[in-house]
Amino acid sequence: LRLTETAQLCDEDPLRFEEYELREHTQVLVIGGGPSGTTTATLLAKEGFDVTLVERASFPRYHIGESLLPSCLPILDLIGARQKVEEHGFQIKRGVYFDWGGEEWEVTFGALVGQRMHSFQVLRAEFDHLLLENAKSRGVTVIEGFGVESLCFDGERPTSAVCASVSPDRQVIELDFDFLIDASGRAGILATRYFQSRRYHQVFRNIAMWGYWRGAKRLPVGPEGAIAVCSVSDGWFWGIPLHDGTLGVGLVTDKEAFNLQKKQGRHPNQIYQEAIRQCPRIADLLASAELTSDLRIERDYSYTSDSFAGPGYRLVGDAACFLDPLLSTGVHLAMFSGLVAAASIASVLRHEVDDEQAAALYEETYRQAYLRMMVVVSTMYQQYRGKESYFWEAQQLTLSDCDGVDLRQAFLNVISGIEDLQDAQMTLDVVLGHMSKVLDMQRALARDKAGLDGMSPEERERTRAKVQFSNLAVARFSLSPRDSIRGLYVVTRPRLGLAHVVPR
Ligand SMILES: Cc1cc2nc3c(=O)[nH]c(=O)nc-3n(C[C@H](O)[C@H](O)[C@H](O)COP(=O)(O)OP(=O)(O)OC[C@H]3O[C@@H](n4cnc5c(N)ncnc54)[C@H](O)[C@@H]3O)c2cc1C
Repeated sequence: LRLTETAQLCDEDPLRFEEYELREHTQVLVIGGGPSGTTTATLLAKEGFDVTLVERASFPRYHIGESLLPSCLPILDLIGARQKVEEHGFQIKRGVYFDWGGEEWEVTFGALVGQRMHSFQVLRAEFDHLLLENAKSRGVTVIEGFGVESLCFDGERPTSAVCASVSPDRQVIELDFDFLIDASGRAGILATRYFQSRRYHQVFRNIAMWGYWRGAKRLPVGPEGAIAVCSVSDGWFWGIPLHDGTLGVGLVTDKEAFNLQKKQGRHPNQIYQEAIRQCPRIADLLASAELTSDLRIERDYSYTSDSFAGPGYRLVGDAACFLDPLLSTGVHLAMFSGLVAAASIASVLRHEVDDEQAAALYEETYRQAYLRMMVVVSTMYQQYRGKESYFWEAQQLTLSDCDGVDLRQAFLNVISGIEDLQDAQMTLDVVLGHMSKVLDMQRALARDKAGLDGMSPEERERTRAKVQFSNLAVARFSLSPRDSIRGLYVVTRPRLGLAHVVPR
């Protein structure tokens, strides 16, 4: 009903159209210039399509989300921005240091088999600006300082957008398009304004408070440039060293605990400072430091949309779903979804597949990547039993080590986000072998009725649940011929797109 109303509103209001200074057509319109928007736009422009990106802010603009996973590297390669990012001077991040539930451990990305992996801690204003400039240089038409105010639909298919400048003179442009990428982040124009499809999870209903400190100590433990993740009684802290010499320190706390403290008359700044005092590691880093920024506060509730794709549109990055920042997965998911969305649209525009199939592939692929990360985060929150239990859970999710021996490796794979990229054919040879073994193992387990019969009822239930979950988490990745969705899977070579499984 809302879609029809919107369409009628646009059609019945011709006078408004006449006011528009410009009416243009573009093959693909991307709303938002964050990492998901620039990844999708750049990849499609590199494939030769006509892409326009509209961004409300004028870059550089502030954004939270500074700690990246190594999985961003191959995507930076694909969009042609790797060298610029490497040379910019961002803090190199070689891993993560955890002080979690009374135990300390660290993860070094370089431990990934045969690969020297690293990532970056980035000032997002600079990182996002660099990606936006890169998009322009790769042929994307970027319109900055314009917000998409409304969309028109033909049935369920979005067909045009009204964009207005945020400047006082309020210039208006109408853009017709063949495809729409909603990369508008947490604003999520399609899910929140048109489809009402955003659902907040019951878990991870947290509040985050953060600021930037000057004069902080370097972390004396952990890999070079590591993010420190330290639990306190009502939540956890991040400590992110940045190349401007500041340390970003954020507290993620339960919303109920936060509200209760506020009711008791405590100012957020007091809550933040008191929590720092409770956290020996962070308190030590900040012993002689000074908070040089305002304290920022954001609800970081996790959510997903009922649908991530439909006729002529895709929701990418935070516009589709958001996951608690515990494992710094946001930019990874943003860029990964941008890659898969671009592949799905490129093939439709080249008439290789129909949009329904491509949308289904995108939807399932992004949902699986999100779900996998979500379960790891939830495991971290639920379990204070010790680090090996996290590793076990990660094993159930990724099963990258099929012999069940190297739990650390499995955990590392999940938190570095590398599995999704392996799936996406970056290092296809390695991953195909792994995934095939994993799937065979699961199928064998599911078929092993005799084995199940020999178990205690609790053990049988647990095993069934594991198999069920494993199937959910890995069985429909669509990123290899073997696990195609409706006969399709994602390829990055020789051109970005979807490939048909060749029947034997
Ligand atoms: C407290 C907190 C801590 C986090 N920490 C991390 C971290 O350490 N590491 C990590 O990887 N992730 C982290 N994240 C998540 C990360 O910030 C996001 O996942 C990531 O920025 C998503 O990228 P995106 O491109 O989808 O959206 P964004 O980066 O939000 O980009 C969306 C863009 O769309 C523009 N826009 C919105 N509406 C319109 C409109 N109508 N018209 C035109 N433009 C529009 C906005 O101006 C914005 O530039 C954190 C998030 C929170 C809340």
